[in-house]
Amino acid sequence: MPLREQSKTKRREIRGIGIGEWAVWGKIRFVSSEIPTKTLAYRGMREEKEALASALTEARAEIAAIGRRTLAAAGREAASIFEIHEMLLCDPDFLDLVNSAIESGTPAADAVASAGESLAGVFEGLDDEYLSARAADMRDVSSRVRRILLGGKSEKKSGEGQMILVARDLSPGDTAGLDTACVTGFVTFAGSVNSHTAILARAMDIPALVRAEEFSKELEGASAILDPESGRLLINPTAEEMSRLADITAKREAERSRLRTLSALPAVTKSGRRIALYANIGSPAEAEAAHRSGAEGIGLFRSEFLFMGRGDLPSEDEQYEAYSRVARLFSDRTGPIVIRTLDVGADKALPALGSEAEDNPALGMRGIRLCLEKTAIFRTQLRAILRASAHGRVAIMLPMVTNIDEIRRTKRLIAEEKNRLRFEEIEFDENIGVGIMIETPAAAIMAKELAGECDFFSVGTNDLFQYTLAADRQNSRLAYLTEAESGLEPVLRLIRLASDGIHAAGEDKWIGICGEMAADTALTEALLGAGADELSVSTPYIARVKEKIRGIE
Ligand code: PEP
Ligand code: MG
Repeated sequence: MPLREQSKTKRREIRGIGIGEWAVWGKIRFVSSEIPTKTLAYRGMREEKEALASALTEARAEIAAIGRRTLAAAGREAASIFEIHEMLLCDPDFLDLVNSAIESGTPAADAVASAGESLAGVFEGLDDEYLSARAADMRDVSSRVRRILLGGKSEKKSGEGQMILVARDLSPGDTAGLDTACVTGFVTFAGSVNSHTAILARAMDIPALVRAEEFSKELEGASAILDPESGRLLINPTAEEMSRLADITAKREAERSRLRTLSALPAVTKSGRRIALYANIGSPAEAEAAHRSGAEGIGLFRSEFLFMGRGDLPSEDEQYEAYSRVARLFSDRTGPIVIRTLDVGADKALPALGSEAEDNPALGMRGIRLCLEKTAIFRTQLRAILRASAHGRVAIMLPMVTNIDEIRRTKRLIAEEKNRLRFEEIEFDENIGVGIMIETPAAAIMAKELAGECDFFSVGTNDLFQYTLAADRQNSRLAYLTEAESGLEPVLRLIRLASDGIHAAGEDKWIGICGEMAADTALTEALLGAGADELSVSTPYIARVKEKIRGIE
């Protein structure tokens, strides 16, 4: 065999950082940029600025569409990447750089490319893994705008057979657009475990190898196994390795179908304690997957996702449509549809509200505090939820409560909106339940007293950790505080305290957990032991948590 041919078929191992659980097979396919290579001559300042404005609008629409698709397919965390892209698109530093280049005679497409590259360089130079990973996002955004300016089409990676894509780096936009029917995995020479591309790969269940050793395009078309667990890409695998892969694939399929069979079974412990197992969703599209996975109800509908990623606010009718779609869908299930009222502020900024900047946003105007200030917006949402309650067992849940007055003030607003609906002869559930999130130590400590005004409670452990440990949930350098045993104990004690108070206040009152902690099967027993009656998790975790519950004595 000629030497060159030998290198194409010789077995090789490439190392990198694996993301995902199961090994996959595919043919290597290098991703080439589909951005047009042509350049355009400078057409004059006004023309270039007009072209830029319309390209920015088109890019925003593309990003919003990918964001919506990602939200439906991979959930909230994955979709939040595209909110960052929308923010980068209107970043003042980026726009200033582009505009001043245009003013000094650079065509808009070139101005966008160099501004994107220079800001990506700034991100890369930052001594923070999270922020430096944003360089890929900046490049993604600028190359999208540049492609539109040059008249290129939206990129889509799909093709023939099973393939493992190889690229220097994949942008989050590219990753979200991957056709999972034929792309079995991907390899990038750049990237990091914290990059948005890696987050997306996990949420989309596509195994990947990032920061892999580089190899050349000569290997295009070669057979390869991507094994994320050992962090290896096996090029031209041996017959033995292929047969090991067949075993792994069979095991994966068996595991998936075993989890699927659980969807119709109840979440009940061995001793017969029935646990309500509900789903967390951010949109009606996510509700469909939750319904298919056997969720008995919706324990947390993050309504703010109807408000985000757009310039205006959703109307009462638009909200009513979204809430009632979920209510109708779940009318065959025993559990409620718990709609959390608008929870924005802090890490979930909503520019359409025009709020003032704050020094400590996580301790500032967020959740119920903001709603009780912006009562017109709040009333619109309450009316939409009340109207949707005519179609199923809808309940209202208030975020970030710290005292009883916030609940009483909200209940007065609900009573007034009910009166208006009665007057207008519009149907709603007269007995609609009202509950609160336990996200602050104050709410946990005072739960017994708050129970006088609430039908149910749900612990938002993401925020409860943050406020109990005084550790910003966005700050990865503080993750060790949350992950440590010493961080878990005070939160579990607060849950136990709240649960005892709530159960003492009335037999019909219940407490659930809807923070990420509810999906951690290592903690299921501790949460049930602390008195939780319900667990609400995102759809991919329903079967695993149910399996865990069914194994507990
Ligand atoms: C929580 O804080 O745990 C929660 C469920 O709410 P969010 O993550 O939306 O703040
Ligand atoms: Mg919260």
